[in-house]
Amino acid sequence: MDSTEFRKRGMEMVEYICNYLETLNDRRVTPSVEPGYLRHLLPSEAPHEPEDWDKIMNDVEDKIMPGVTHWQHPRFHAYFPAGNSFPSILGDMLGDGIGCIGFSWAASPACTELETIVLDWLGKAIGLPDHFLALKEGSTGGGVIQTSASECVLVTMLAARAQALKRLKAQHPFVEEGHLLSKLMAYCSKEAHSCVEKAAMICFVKLRILEPDENASLRGQTIGEAMEEDELQGLVPFFVSTTLGTTGSCAFDNLPEIGLELQKFPSVWLHVDAAYAGNSFICPELKPLLKGIEFADSFNTNPNKWLLTNFDCSTLWVRDRIRLTSALVVDPLYLKHGYSDAAIDYRHWGVPLSRRFRSLKLWFVLRSYGISGLQHYIRHHIKLAKRFEELVLKDKRFEICNQVKLGLVCFRLKGSDKLNEKFLSTINESGKLHMVPASVNERYIIRFCAVAQNATAEDIDYAWDTIVDFANELLEKEQHDELTEIINKKKQDTLAQKRSFFVRMVSDPKIYNPAINKAGTPKLSLDITSPVVSRGSNPIIRTQSSVEHNSWISWPLAFLFNSNNDEKSSNVSLRFRHLDTNVRPSSSRRNSGAGSSPSPENEVNYVNMQQQQQQQQQQQRSPRKSPMFMRKLPSTQNNHN
Ligand code: PLP
Repeated sequence: MDSTEFRKRGMEMVEYICNYLETLNDRRVTPSVEPGYLRHLLPSEAPHEPEDWDKIMNDVEDKIMPGVTHWQHPRFHAYFPAGNSFPSILGDMLGDGIGCIGFSWAASPACTELETIVLDWLGKAIGLPDHFLALKEGSTGGGVIQTSASECVLVTMLAARAQALKRLKAQHPFVEEGHLLSKLMAYCSKEAHSCVEKAAMICFVKLRILEPDENASLRGQTIGEAMEEDELQGLVPFFVSTTLGTTGSCAFDNLPEIGLELQKFPSVWLHVDAAYAGNSFICPELKPLLKGIEFADSFNTNPNKWLLTNFDCSTLWVRDRIRLTSALVVDPLYLKHGYSDAAIDYRHWGVPLSRRFRSLKLWFVLRSYGISGLQHYIRHHIKLAKRFEELVLKDKRFEICNQVKLGLVCFRLKGSDKLNEKFLSTINESGKLHMVPASVNERYIIRFCAVAQNATAEDIDYAWDTIVDFANELLEKEQHDELTEIINKKKQDTLAQKRSFFVRMVSDPKIYNPAINKAGTPKLSLDITSPVVSRGSNPIIRTQSSVEHNSWISWPLAFLFNSNNDEKSSNVSLRFRHLDTNVRPSSSRRNSGAGSSPSPENEVNYVNMQQQQQQQQQQQRSPRKSPMFMRKLPSTQNNHN
């Protein structure tokens, strides 16, 4: 394709994109295809000879589009928004056209400098403290664009880990790093995104997953008690990941409380993941949600979720850029340049070396909409969410399950989880709306998010009317099924009673004893402490004590050790692995004082986790053979008692 044809095809593509976005309503929001659908439509080999552009574009419409989930569709209310806007698309297009790889200042000075400036702009607009801004006089902090929030959490955990190991190594110079690493403990709430668990796996550290309060908010006292308890065990708290705007229900951890609590643990890195909600802090009236940020070491938000910027654009700010980069620096000769000491080299701020010119699209967005335009957009989505909440509240068959602060409403039909599961899957199968569920406070809830850029009140009303139609149909059917079930059960009971009476009459002389008759049939009790509870395909090991207990430890790579070389038994989803046992790491240091660092030279080694698991597996080989990834800790309250 030469530039003459590119001009022509480029214009056609812009036309195609505009048509696509303007006529989204005519398409099903979710595709109705089966896995592998595309394999049957495309050849198994790449073409040897060049193909005609029109033919390629025809295939886009005929073969690709039928398998696309339309995230920009006005009936798409799942997950969080996937940011999209024309200025952003154009910014990406320009970045792609320039096609530079800005891993260092010298590799493309504008790419680096624009990123620093735009991150300062956005940081100021959100209301981050000055120490997060790179260009503020005396600041040691700064911002960087990462590919995803998961990467932001990972690199901050890596930085915190490096700091902690450095500190421990200074205290215990003759102890191997690997041994020191085994002491490190990170913390997050059960409501934190699963990327925190993934980061802990990659960093090879333990992660203690804590129970939030009834509003899904992690509290300072919970963190403080867990860290004190772990220190008594000889472990070293080093990283806390908090969430402002959780994925499940857009709940907010209590950052001021947690920040204050962490003053007792000054070397612990406090990260704030505000992947969705953070964008909204550009509205002055929402800035109170950011309270406590002054305690944080790092903060991330995704403009590619809720700031009209296309994926990928996840922004991360750190209080101390040296603490971040010192965990990630590698400096081969071929990447050095004359200004290495005077300029920012973003390759030291993340995992990849190569980086796209992503700041362009954010710059385009910030300039085209202005802060006021972005504030308007955020407020519009919140207004739509409030409208939806009001509609739900008016119908007594439904309940609201979260505090609606931003664009996410969590709701459910009053009734069982099973009923709600059925309800949501029927709606989703229809292709008329798309929503996803979450589990909050052990309940199945349905998430409804205001997503489409130009969503209107009519779109919300349409969604609600559709939901009500499905609810009417389902509840009517349920009532009918329930009635039929009662009648059938009654019939069966009467028949069973007659049969049983007859059988017992002819076989069991005790039947003639009236006292036995009065005692009736023994009732089946639901044993909530039964050891294995299966949820979907993931087994959850529930120990007798786990009902009162409230935190878990995720062990790095435990799933590998657990597999016992049996490929089939390791076939367990890594997401939301809240599996627990009643084992906790044993330590010879139970009696060491709180706040003191462990003294690994003198201690008896921690029980090797792999050995522990093998022992446990041997003990438990029969009858249950369940994976044990998470180790349940006794609740702090219980300990204190
Ligand atoms: N953190 C939170 C609070 C999220 O809601 C999400 C995704 O929705 C993530 C992290 C992961 O985001 P990413 O896909 O950018 O890694």
